[in-house]
Amino acid sequence: MFFRKLNNSQLWEKIKKLRELVQETDNFKDRKCYACEKSLNIYDFLSDNLEFAPEHVLDLWQSPFLEFHCCECFKYLKFHELEAIEELVKARECAFCDNTIDLFKFGKDHSYLKIHELKEEWLNLLKPIFCDNLCQRKYYKEKAESSTNNSL
Ligand SMILES: [Zn+2]
Ligand SMILES: [Zn+2]
Repeated sequence: MFFRKLNNSQLWEKIKKLRELVQETDNFKDRKCYACEKSLNIYDFLSDNLEFAPEHVLDLWQSPFLEFHCCECFKYLKFHELEAIEELVKARECAFCDNTIDLFKFGKDHSYLKIHELKEEWLNLLKPIFCDNLCQRKYYKEKAESSTNNSL
């Protein structure tokens, strides 16, 4: 199922690592789509979230506080809910690079969030959001550096 996506060595390395972690995990979760109950595959989840480390992917997968959706349900069933959120706040900007962030892309990047959690993140204008993990890292790095400078 996930093999068609194996087109680079980085992904292959991550899958290998994740497979080892899964084997070492007691009570590895059988996940089903929250909406349609289709069985989910952790390796698909990994390949959709390649920016995450395998350890982080496993943590999210095992979390009792998260529900997952299959790609189709996320795309089609959540589309209308996302539209409703978009009516409240159309777009946001990355706190680091000021690029416009599209809600649908943001939703896809955070597909492990429940829709109400996604809504909370999106509508909380005081909380910075980012295009990607790279911008997030740079933002907090700069912030840490500037607070060090201020205290000197
Ligand atoms: Zn589904
Ligand atoms: Zn950015």
